Amino acid sequence: MRLRILPKEEVPRMVQALMADYRVVGPKAKGPKFVFEPITDPSEIRLDYNITILPPKVALQPPQERVARINLEGEVPQPEPLIEAEPTVIFGAHTCDVHALRLLDRAFTADYPDSHYLERRRQTLVISLECLEPCDEHSFCKDMGTLTADEGYDLHLTDIGDAYTVHVGTEAGEAALEKYATTRAATDEDMRRLNEVLSAKWPRFTHRLNFDAAELPSLLATAYDHPIWAELGERCLSCGSCTNVCPTCYCFNMLDTISLTLKEALRIRRWDSCQLDEFARVAGGENFREARAARQRHRFFRKGKWLRERFDTTGCVGCGRCIRACLVNINIVEVFNTIHGSA
Ligand code: SF4
Ligand code: SF4
Repeated sequence: MRLRILPKEEVPRMVQALMADYRVVGPKAKGPKFVFEPITDPSEIRLDYNITILPPKVALQPPQERVARINLEGEVPQPEPLIEAEPTVIFGAHTCDVHALRLLDRAFTADYPDSHYLERRRQTLVISLECLEPCDEHSFCKDMGTLTADEGYDLHLTDIGDAYTVHVGTEAGEAALEKYATTRAATDEDMRRLNEVLSAKWPRFTHRLNFDAAELPSLLATAYDHPIWAELGERCLSCGSCTNVCPTCYCFNMLDTISLTLKEALRIRRWDSCQLDEFARVAGGENFREARAARQRHRFFRKGKWLRERFDTTGCVGCGRCIRACLVNINIVEVFNTIHGSA
């Protein structure tokens, strides 16, 4: 793998140059927190962020998008696909979010390839950032194996003090680096600093699961009737915040809006949440996951068992966003540890 050195003072120039050809989506401050949003000035990028409220998937699967325009004027409605994609750079994604993007790539490719997601993905460069410290006390990326990434990015930055090392992950990344950044070759001193930084980071991250995450599928297989689901069902508010902030949740709903002239309709796709009461309501009014306890169980099974079995990668990347977002302190680490403790 090719390694280059990007001096920190070159980063704003690189972002500015990228902005000429791409929508650059990066971490920005929003009050005391951070969000992934389009950058309008390179000074907005905060590579010192800890965690963003929403993950960078917003650049690939926006909360709401138009997927088709339907002409209603003829005898039979005529749908015309709308694919709203533009060249985009996701700049500064942490490694847990890189793992989550890999899962989304698999989910939107398997069975029914999603042309909307895949076209945006085709036009997107991922420039990721090695995490050197935990975001906060809720991170459990070390347990989930997402503390570092060796694929899933085009370029990967590691802070070595006054510069970043840049691992080139793809040919597209290499071409972008040559076109948009001023870098230099790595020296022996750069390699020494990189090794020092990487070996110093691991002890800063602690394990928070009381067991190996690889056991989650078999552990959950024995926990379908565990009393914890009823307890969580009593506490849960069904607000959907935990799934809205999750980088590996990708469920959506479709709805049609008809113009006032009745000549045209737009088909809209919006994020959905398995924690909402109406998520599993089907024709005839039947709701096959009506109880909050069943919806909670579904979320934890999906994160710990089903996604892993389906896509051969972790369904939860340990970012801790759902823990921070939950108003009643439902904590995925505590849930998994409780189940493990009673197994
Ligand atoms: S389940 Fe929670 S900790 Fe896991 S990836 Fe989703 S938001 Fe992050
Ligand atoms: S954020 Fe908490 S209260 Fe809201 S749906 Fe998720 S688990 Fe329930």
